[in-house]
Amino acid sequence: MAPYRTILSFLLLFILSFAAQASSILTIGQEAIRLTDFRVEYFTDDSQSLSYEEVRKQTFQETTSSTSLGAKAAVTWFRFTLRNSSLKARALLLHLPSAYHARSVDIFQERSQNLIDQASVDLNDASDHLLMYQGTVVYPFTVPLGETVVVYVRSHVYSHQWFSLEIYDNARSRQALVGGHLDIALLVGILLAMVLYNALLYFATSKSENIFYSLYLISGLAWIALSYGLLGKAFNIYGDAVFVLNLALITMPIFLLLFMMSIFETEEFYPTEHRVLQGMLALLAITLVYGLFDAVGALKPAASLAVLLMVVTFSVGISLLRKGHPLVKYFLVGHTFFVVFNGIAVLYYKGLVAPNYINGHGVGIGIVLEALTLAFIISYRIKVLENIRSKQNEFKQQAATDPLTQLYNRRQIVSEGEYIGEKARAAGEPLSVIALDIDHFKAVNDEHGHHVGDSALVDIAGILRQYSRDTDLVARVGGEEFVILLPGADHAEARSCAELIRRGVERHVVDAGDGLDVRITVSIGVAEVDTAMESVESAVNRADKALYEAKALGRNRVCCSEAVAGGASF
Ligand code: GH3
Ligand code: MG
Ligand code: MG
Repeated sequence: MAPYRTILSFLLLFILSFAAQASSILTIGQEAIRLTDFRVEYFTDDSQSLSYEEVRKQTFQETTSSTSLGAKAAVTWFRFTLRNSSLKARALLLHLPSAYHARSVDIFQERSQNLIDQASVDLNDASDHLLMYQGTVVYPFTVPLGETVVVYVRSHVYSHQWFSLEIYDNARSRQALVGGHLDIALLVGILLAMVLYNALLYFATSKSENIFYSLYLISGLAWIALSYGLLGKAFNIYGDAVFVLNLALITMPIFLLLFMMSIFETEEFYPTEHRVLQGMLALLAITLVYGLFDAVGALKPAASLAVLLMVVTFSVGISLLRKGHPLVKYFLVGHTFFVVFNGIAVLYYKGLVAPNYINGHGVGIGIVLEALTLAFIISYRIKVLENIRSKQNEFKQQAATDPLTQLYNRRQIVSEGEYIGEKARAAGEPLSVIALDIDHFKAVNDEHGHHVGDSALVDIAGILRQYSRDTDLVARVGGEEFVILLPGADHAEARSCAELIRRGVERHVVDAGDGLDVRITVSIGVAEVDTAMESVESAVNRADKALYEAKALGRNRVCCSEAVAGGASF
C-alpha cells in the first residue's frame, strides 16, 4: 500500500500547487515593484449590468496583465490578488495605461472578503479626475504586512477590449508615467511632415492626388493618435468626443480610393476598374454618413469592410499591373505593407494573438510604410511626366529637322521664316536669304552610288553650319537644295557668306570610299529681304531665281537678286 500512498500524495501536491498557481496570487516582498507581466483573471459581463457583488461570485478565466479580447467583451472585469509577505506595509500604484480608449473604468479593492475602497472614472468626464494622468488611470492602494488584497477592475470599452494592468511602487510609477513614447512621436512626425509637404505640392501643382494623399495621411494620423492615446496625453480629452475620430478608419480608405483613381487615371483609361473603385467608395461613403450619427454602429462592420476593401484594392491593382501601368507595382508593395501590419494589429485587437510590440504598433507601422511608398509613387510620377515631356520635345525636334543632315526642314523654315521676318521688320534690321543647289548632283549619284550622294549632303550641311552664324537658320528644303536665313545680314554680308560657302564646297573632298575622292560644287542665289515690302517667302523665290541664273551662267557661282521692284508679294 505504501507506494500507492506516496504516489497519491505526490499527485495531491501537484494538483494543489497547480491550484495555487491558477488562483493567480501575486506574492510581494520588500523588493522594488515593477509588475508589467503577470497573471490576472477576467470575466466578461455580456449583460453589461452586473454589480461588483454579483460579479465576484462568477467564474473567472485566466489571462495575462496585457490582454486583448476582441469586440465581444465590451464590459470585462479583471481581477488580481496580491499578498504582502514582507515585514512592512507596501504602498503601491495600479496603472491602467489603456484606460484612455474606454468608456469607463471602475476599481474595487477588497481585503478579507470586504470591500474597502472603490473608484470610478467616467472617460467622458475624466479631464480633471484625480486618478487620470495623461490617459493612464493611476490608482494608489496599500497592502498591509501579511495581508492579501484583491483588486477588481471593470473596463467598459466602445468596441474592442484591449487592456493592461501594471503595478509599481512609488518611484517606479513615476518613471513609468514620464517615460517617453519616442517611437510614436517619430511615426507622427514623419506623417506630419508628409502631410505638409503634399499640401504644399498641391498648392504648387493643383494635382488632386496630392490633396487626396494629404487627407489620407491626416486620417492615418488621427487613427494613430487615437490608437496610442495621443489625444489624451497631449490634450487630456477622452470618451465620446474622441471616439468619433475613429471614423478616420473609414475616411482613410475613402481617400486611398480617391488617390488611386487620381494617380492611376482610372476614369480616363481604365473604366472597369474605375467603376469597381466607385462602388467601394459609395459603400464607404454610406458607412461614413451613418457613422456621423452612430459611430459605434458604423464601426461594427469595419473588419468586414476592411477585408472587402483589400480585395477591391488588390484586384484593381493587379488588373492595372497586368495592363502594364508603370506605377501600380509600387502601390501594391506599399499596400502589402499596410495590409500585413494592420492584419497583425487586427489579430491583436481581436485577441487572437499574444500582445507584443509589433502587433501593438501594427497600425502605425503599416500606415507609415504605406505612406512612404505612396510618397515614392508621387515622386516617381513626376519623373514619368518629365520623361513624357522630354519625349514630346524630342518629337517636336524630329518634326522640325531633316533626319539625314539634322538641319531644319522646309516646314520649319517656313514657320520660323515668317516670325523672323516680323522681328526684323519691327527692329528695322536687315535680313537676307541664301538659296543653294548642288551642281550635277544626279551625276554624283549615278557615278558613285546613292550612299556617296548622301555623304555629300551631310558634308555640305557641315560646311553650311561652319560658315553660318549661330543666329542663322539653315534648312534642307529639298533633295539637294538648301536655304539659309541670315537675320541682321544685309545684301553684301549675305553675298560674302555665300561666297565663303561656295569656296568651302569647292575645296572640300567627299570621300567616296576605295580611295576615291569626289569633288562637288554649288550654285547660290542671294537676296536681301525687303522687310517693309515683301514676305520672307517672296525673298526666297527671288534668291531661287538668282540661283537659276547662276546655273545658267555655268554653275559654281553666286548670283544676287535685284532689290524687290514694286512690292512683289506672294
Ligand atoms: P543641276 O546642276 O542642274 O542642279 O543638276 P542636278 O543633277 O543636281 O539636278 P537634278 O534636279 O536633275 O537632280 C537632283 C538629284 O538629286 C536627283 C536625285 O538623284 C538627287 N537627290 C535628291 N535627294 C537625294 C538624297 O536624299 N540623297 C541622294 N543621294 N540623292 C538625292
Ligand atoms: Mg535641284
Ligand atoms: Mg542640283
